[in-house]
Amino acid sequence: MAIEQTLSIIKPDGVRNHHIGQIISIFEHAGLTIKAAKLVHLTTKQAEGFYAEHSQRGFFRELVDFMTSGPVLLICLEGENAIAHNRELMGATDPAQADAGTIRKLYAESKGVNTVHGSDSAGSAARELAYFFGSAFEFVG
Ligand code: ADP
Ligand code: MG
Repeated sequence: MAIEQTLSIIKPDGVRNHHIGQIISIFEHAGLTIKAAKLVHLTTKQAEGFYAEHSQRGFFRELVDFMTSGPVLLICLEGENAIAHNRELMGATDPAQADAGTIRKLYAESKGVNTVHGSDSAGSAARELAYFFGSAFEFVG
């Protein structure tokens, strides 16, 4: 298995509900390393750009409004198979469908207000990390 980096976002509900510590604890207990992190309040343009692939979906405006409703924690996670591993730790998009013990099962309210984002492929991870951490992004050591 390859060492990968992936983008996690603790969404506004996770920050607002004081779940940052528990979520980072889940990542660290699973063997993922925090390589970079920053707390930011996204602008509408930043959220729209980040979720551009969903711009034609009916939930797009709701998603952008939610993602700009308060600060988010942007995190670069690193580890073996980190992209898929993070997706497993997150659980399904809809918390009602998420496995027991996953972050979304533990903390998410709904399919929209679902506590965490995680890159879904190597291409998405590279694009999303560059989007928030810069195009020359790579944390080593
Ligand atoms: P995931 O975050 O699991 O990769 P998607 O990429 O399909 O899920 O969707 C991106 C985000 O858009 C979701 O995490 C969720 O916040 C929101 N979303 C997806 N589907 C819906 C929906 N049917 N209603 C409201 N919000 C949704
Ligand atoms: Mg997605």
